[in-house]
Amino acid sequence: MKKIGIIGAGISGLFISNLFKEIPNYEVTIFEKKQSIELEEGYGIQLSTNSIKLLNKIGFNEIEKKEKFNPKKIDFYEIKNQKKISDLNISEYNSEDCKYTTMKRSKLLEFLKNSLNEEVIKYEHNIEKIEKKNDQINLTFNNKLNFICDYLIISDGIFSKGKSLISDNKIQPIYNNSIAIRGKIPMANLNNLNEMNISLFVGHDFHYVIYPIDKRSGEFNFIGVLKHQLSINELNNYSLFEEKAFIDEIKKKLQNKISSSILSKLNNIKCFPVFVSKDFHKSIKNIHLIGDAFFAFPPSFAQGASQSIEGASELFESIINNKTDFYRNRVSRVKMINNRSKLNQFAFHASNPIVVFLRNIGLKILTKNKTFLENYLGKIYKN
Ligand SMILES: Cc1cc2nc3c(=O)[nH]c(=O)nc-3n(C[C@H](O)[C@H](O)[C@H](O)COP(=O)(O)OP(=O)(O)OC[C@H]3O[C@@H](n4cnc5c(N)ncnc54)[C@H](O)[C@@H]3O)c2cc1C
Repeated sequence: MKKIGIIGAGISGLFISNLFKEIPNYEVTIFEKKQSIELEEGYGIQLSTNSIKLLNKIGFNEIEKKEKFNPKKIDFYEIKNQKKISDLNISEYNSEDCKYTTMKRSKLLEFLKNSLNEEVIKYEHNIEKIEKKNDQINLTFNNKLNFICDYLIISDGIFSKGKSLISDNKIQPIYNNSIAIRGKIPMANLNNLNEMNISLFVGHDFHYVIYPIDKRSGEFNFIGVLKHQLSINELNNYSLFEEKAFIDEIKKKLQNKISSSILSKLNNIKCFPVFVSKDFHKSIKNIHLIGDAFFAFPPSFAQGASQSIEGASELFESIINNKTDFYRNRVSRVKMINNRSKLNQFAFHASNPIVVFLRNIGLKILTKNKTFLENYLGKIYKN
């Protein structure tokens, strides 16, 4: 029996545990620093067909249909004049049981957690030390408990302590000079947006996306990404983003960027700084990273969760088939998606009138160009 220790019960850690569950020779234990997995928050997540295909392998298609939504298109709008620029048919990449999906992030986590035996997840375990002993790895946690495993999978998110420990703090995420604003908005306040689609508004140093999160609540998810400089002190002040004064300052900045009917009806607003990865940390024989701990992208391609799922599946296949190609293959795919995420962010936030003009023409042409779409999206969504 091979023992697998997993640090972090997020999307990637829970998903890979579900894959190993079916393989008799492996025993998985997840160590999570929190007391529980938060299942209350109602914010949304987008999952493209590449990850839905993998999630279906562990029974995702059996989740009740009313808990999920399958948007048909992405409608692009210009913030300045609220006019539609173009639309992109994302359902083009769907098949009968594998559709682009939006849902509550908490519903996805609940499904991943409930598919595992309860004793697999050990809560209140914050990793403190990782030591290699011959072919095994010795983990020490804050509560002084130890665990010896044959494989270590580090999936503790963007600020990965596991990665800091194995890289001697050399690889740290960087601030993306932007903050994310999350909220929810009732369907009744969407004005004339098509509620079957994802609406993406682009503008000067800011873009936002509104999409449905299920078929029953009538609530829509709002996620905006605003260019915003923060001082070192502000970045180190963990409570800043909870402070009413800070949220009010951001809301003020948004006043001329979002229509007042939407801004005034946004509820549960939360802000947080967006951090991204710059470098990779190479896998060492039996220590691997997945999800945001492996690499975190700017959130402008909505691929973070999907890539966490894809990376987890690739690592699983590599371990059970005794292969050594996980790191190399993952790096090349991550680089491709990271470049596209950065290009999207640049195009969405353009302010120079000539660039805006070219972007809008480009969007009109490229969203209808099959060859371009096959290369830009198909390569990712059809993996
Ligand atoms: C604004 C924004 C919007 C996004 N929207 C989308 C979207 O629409 N679609 C999409 O695909 N992706 C989206 N993403 C990205 C996506 O949320 C992440 O890529 C994904 O959640 C990463 O999963 P993960 O398992 O790697 O990490 P996480 O989900 O962050 O989980 C990490 C887990 O590790 C635990 N942990 C942390 N430290 C320790 C420790 N020391 N010891 C033990 N446990 C620890 C944490 O408590 C947590 O449970 C978005 C990201 C942002 C910033």
